[in-house]
Amino acid sequence: MQYCLNEEQTQLQDLIRRVCAEKVAARAADIDRTAEYPQDMFELLQKLDLFTVPFSAEYGGTGSVLSACIAVEEFGRVCYNTGALLVTQWVPFGTILAGGSPEQQKRYLPGLATGELRGATSLTEAQSGSDVSGIKTTARRTADGYVINGAKMWCTGSLVADFIMVAARTLAEDGKPVGINFFIVERGAKGFTVGRKEEKLGARGISSHPLFFDNVPVAETARLGPEGGEGFKLAMETLNKSRPIIAARAVGLAQGAMDHTIEFIRNRRAFGHQISDFQGARWMVSDMAMKTEAARQLVYRAAAMVDAGVKGSVLAPLAAQAKCYASDVAMQVATDAVQLFGAAGISGEYPINRYFRDAKVIQIVEGTNQIQRNIIADSLLGRVKK
Ligand SMILES: Cc1cc2nc3c(=O)[nH]c(=O)nc-3n(C[C@H](O)[C@H](O)[C@H](O)COP(=O)(O)OP(=O)(O)OC[C@H]3O[C@@H](n4cnc5c(N)ncnc54)[C@H](O)[C@@H]3O)c2cc1C
Repeated sequence: MQYCLNEEQTQLQDLIRRVCAEKVAARAADIDRTAEYPQDMFELLQKLDLFTVPFSAEYGGTGSVLSACIAVEEFGRVCYNTGALLVTQWVPFGTILAGGSPEQQKRYLPGLATGELRGATSLTEAQSGSDVSGIKTTARRTADGYVINGAKMWCTGSLVADFIMVAARTLAEDGKPVGINFFIVERGAKGFTVGRKEEKLGARGISSHPLFFDNVPVAETARLGPEGGEGFKLAMETLNKSRPIIAARAVGLAQGAMDHTIEFIRNRRAFGHQISDFQGARWMVSDMAMKTEAARQLVYRAAAMVDAGVKGSVLAPLAAQAKCYASDVAMQVATDAVQLFGAAGISGEYPINRYFRDAKVIQIVEGTNQIQRNIIADSLLGRVKK
């Protein structure tokens, strides 16, 4: 079924489906097991020219978030980590596109588009994940620019990144706070180090690390947008636009878990029957299909709204619903999938426990599902901050 996709999107879907079957599926388990950065998958995405899909033709993209969702969904169906390579690249791209100066755009976007440059994004600190306003890393004004001090956590892709978008509390020369800004910190900057990788339950292919900033000097031109909250707000608003893409990763994951389950219950036998003969199992896969399809429709609609130019307080609750619902569905589907595999669901010999572990991650990253529910409730109750 081709849904509401246009010809270009159908072709993109067909292409990625083929590539996944031929090249990605065979690598998925290994990437998860070894937790080594999948450089070959990065090069594959580079060769397919997929790093610009959501962005305009000027950068070689389709200009469509729905197309980006389709790409991520198809990769997510077979390998969470390969889909995550795209998203890790798209977030800094979108942030610089939304809030960067023409010079910053010229310096970073062409390289991100070809994959010659890799970016990462760092907001989270030990004491503040959901509560971005609690960040303590500072960027204090100096005669030449700023000096950054502090520590970050969970920065995904930072080990291979050429630069990192670092959220810091901007201080005037006298130490007075002026708001939060993103600063572009390049690899090799003096006083900047990437710490030991987190041992992760899921999303293991692209490692996440703490970052340390010890009097790291950056030029004024490294700051995104005007000093203070405005530039940061602009950058954060782009997260509403990219949220359907995160949700699409969950739809793909749910679909992939279901694909594996159907194959398994058709082949596995008990009590003289295929497992797929038992009503309990049949109804479980039917529920998986209904929920996955409902999530897909919500995600495609949110993405189509972004493509139609909807933004701000109208887009925010829909994008939140898409992310929250799709990742909750992915978790439910993956949980039932493990159940239907029986002991094989627990065994590392089968792919399904990888889906279960990766699903949990999507409920937490890019704004936890509680935070998404807060966005939805604020919108329903008329409590949206201007
Ligand atoms: C695999 C992985 C990759 C990541 N990559 C990055 C990255 O690249 N860059 C980056 O900056 N961060 C990254 N993160 C961090 C991620 O963004 C945070 O983990 C997430 O925002 C939640 O923050 P926290 O873990 O500090 O939880 P907390 O904010 O401490 O929350 C703990 C619990 O309380 C709930 N909670 C908090 N506030 C509320 C509230 N107001 N109402 C209801 N419930 C609430 C949360 O939903 C959660 O369940 C990554 C995390 C993971 C797991």
